[in-house]
Order: sequence, then structure tokens, then C-alpha cells
Amino acid sequence: MIRVLFAGRSYAWANYKDVLPRAISDAGVTAEVVREADPSTVDYIVYAPNSAVQDFTPYTRTKAVLNLWAGVEDVVGNQTLTQPLARMVDYGLTEGMVEWCVAQVLRHHLNLDRDVCRRDHSWDPHVPPLARDRRVTVLGLGELGRGVAEALVGLNFAVTGWSRSQKVSDGVTSHSGEAGLPLALQDAEIIVLLLPLTDATENLLNEERLALLADGAFVINPGRGPLIDDNALLAALDTGKLAHATLDVFREEPLPEEHPYWKHPNVTVTPHVASATRPESSARVIAENIRRGEAGVPFLHLVDREAGY
Ligand code: NAP
Repeated sequence: MIRVLFAGRSYAWANYKDVLPRAISDAGVTAEVVREADPSTVDYIVYAPNSAVQDFTPYTRTKAVLNLWAGVEDVVGNQTLTQPLARMVDYGLTEGMVEWCVAQVLRHHLNLDRDVCRRDHSWDPHVPPLARDRRVTVLGLGELGRGVAEALVGLNFAVTGWSRSQKVSDGVTSHSGEAGLPLALQDAEIIVLLLPLTDATENLLNEERLALLADGAFVINPGRGPLIDDNALLAALDTGKLAHATLDVFREEPLPEEHPYWKHPNVTVTPHVASATRPESSARVIAENIRRGEAGVPFLHLVDREAGY
């Protein structure tokens, strides 16, 4: 019997204890899904950040570690992990991220706060530009960034994207590599960060790069907190270079009580909710990889350990 160790946290287990065995069975694999096991008897590990399993050495029979999250920064550098590592790519995660990012872009584009929060009863209509006249840059054109960029193109925004390798996508002006970054940032009015956290992306949005954005730009970060140099961001908000930052992810989560982001009038803090892994659809992704492992077919969504994502 195939043994699958669910190494996520207890609250996640409640969501997966029925759907995961069902999805594995639907994939045609006979397996038991357990919360605890002798490591030498485990065939697959379903992993989530802060998992109890941090030393993979005793898992001598394990064929793959299957991450429930899209981001893998907490496990990709684990020297004890010699088994293949797959991350989560799932339509639920992508659709959730597209909805959240489109909502945030439209909020800033239309300046919805200005009209919604009229506590002083003032009557001061304003006309925002059309989407076609708003320059939005999406940093990261992977599973999530591409979905967001395409949705924004569908709304007629003037969309630019940036990634490591050059992309071709209808309606998106694409740049790549180090040389492409200033081109992607120059005069952008709204930027959305959907990069993974790696050695190459940490503190990517620093003082020098923030200076390239249009005056009064908006930053939306559902990627990872350390992508941004926090001090540079706060300084750019204070000078008015940036109009607003909407931040879903932080260097430390939950965001510490004393952090200046909480009090800043031009920062919106959301508690890492941009997009959650959905148990029903993600269980099918995990099950498909287990089916592949048992059939000797290459795993899907493998992480490039060297690139770090
Ligand atoms: P992905 O498919 O791996 O895409 C990553 C994108 O970033 C790719 O386009 C990649 O370029 C680009 N990239 C990576 N390193 C780069 C570099 N050094 N320079 C330029 N571009 C670089 O990842 P994803 O599934 O879209 O997820 C992106 C991130 O979103 C995750 O890593 C996670 O941190 C975050 N996330 C957040 C939430 C939330 O709720 N807040 C939920 C899910 C995910 P290539 O295409 O050339 O490889």
C-alpha cells in the first residue's frame, strides 16, 4: 500500500482529510493518507510551510515532496531534501489571485476609496482615465502573473510584464532579465509583484527602482514581503513618489504590532489572503502527481532547485 504523509498543519488537515484520499482514489491509486508514520515507510510527503517535517534524511523511500503552496522559499534550500520537490499549480490558486489583483488594480485605478469614504458629505465628482490609458506592470509572468496580466489586458489596461525568460503574450509588452527591469518599471503607474522569493529577487524593489515609477504610482504586493525594501517603500510613500501600497505579504507574518505599515495612511495591509490553496482542486493536483510517480511518468510542476522556484 502506498503511504502518503500529510505534513501540513492541523487546521489544514481538517480540510484535506476527506478530499485528499478521495482525490487519490479517483486518480486510480490505492493509498493511505496518514498524519504520522515511520519515515522509512513514507512514499510521498504532502508539505506546507512550517511543516513538522524539516529533516528529510530518514525518508529513504519517499519519491516526492508535494508542496501545497505555490511559494517554496522555506523548503527549496533544505539540504536534507534530495527527493524531487513539486509546488502547487492549480486553477483555484490562479483564479483567486486574478480576482484579488484585478480588484486591487481597479480600486487604485478608479480611486474607489475617494468616492466610497465621503464621510464629510462632499460632492466632488472626478473622472478617472480609462484603463487603456493606465500603465500597469506585472513583475513575474508565471502561473499567477500571466493570469493577472491577461485579465488586465482583457479590461483594456496597458500592460507590461517582466520575467526571467522572454515571454510572448497577446497584448502584454514583455521584458526579461536584468536589462529588461528598468524598461518594465519606467513610468509604470501601478505595479503588481508576483515574483517568487529567491536570492535574485530579494529587495528587488529598492530606492533606485522605485524612482523609475511614475510619480504617484501604486504598488500592489501579493508576491512575498522581502521582494520590497521596506524602508525605501516607506520613504517613497512619505515623499509622495508613491500614492499607495497595498501589501498582502511581509517579511514577518503576522505583521508585528509596531510595524509602521499598520499606521501609515497610504498603506493597506491584508493578512496574506490574496489567494489560498483550495482543497478540492489542489488535492487533485497532488493526486495526479502521486499517480505519475506510481506510473513512472515525470512529475508535474517540479521546482528548479538551483533557480529557487
Ligand atoms: P511561477 O509560475 O514560478 O512564476 C514566477 C515568475 O517569476 C516567472 O515568470 C519567472 O520567470 C519570474 N521570475 C523568477 N525569478 C525571476 C528573476 N530573477 N527575474 C525575473 N523574473 C523572475 O510562480 P507563481 O505560481 O506565478 O507564483 C508566484 C509567487 O506568488 C509565489 O512564488 C508566491 O511567492 C506568491 N503567492 C502568493 C500568494 C498569496 O496569497 N499572497 C498565493 C500564491 C502565491 P520565468 O517565467 O522566466 O521563469
